[in-house]
Amino acid sequence: MSKAASKAYSKLSTGKLSGWSEKSFEAPGHGTIMGKMFLQDQLQLTGCQISINSYAPGESMPIHHSHKENEEVYIFLSGKGQMQIDGETFDVAEGDVVRVATGVDRIWRNNGAEVMTYLVMQVREGSLNQCNMGDAIIPEKAVSWPV
Ligand code: ZN
Repeated sequence: MSKAASKAYSKLSTGKLSGWSEKSFEAPGHGTIMGKMFLQDQLQLTGCQISINSYAPGESMPIHHSHKENEEVYIFLSGKGQMQIDGETFDVAEGDVVRVATGVDRIWRNNGAEVMTYLVMQVREGSLNQCNMGDAIIPEKAVSWPV
């Protein structure tokens, strides 16, 4: 199941981090979930899913979950909280990045005094063949920007 991108790039403005609490998505069987928006459809992502997320102080993920095929990367942009991975609880804060493997139970919360914003990226575990300079094509082309 693969999708081809339909154009050279796609761009989406998600607004300021302070507005992410107003984002939402419809979760079948769970109604409208506030403070979370998935980007795959709007950006026509073909190899990963990304969500933008905002939790107010005291908010917690209401359910535990794990993933069958996808590892997840949590990138914390502001605030602080805790994650609980297979029963181990640890603190997270702005600037922290956490990878969670497939088949591993997870839950997290904002136990700080500030809004906690974070990104979650899902990507198929074991799918990365090459990256960085190993995947880059660098033409001999002068850098030029419109004035
Ligand atoms: Zn997940």
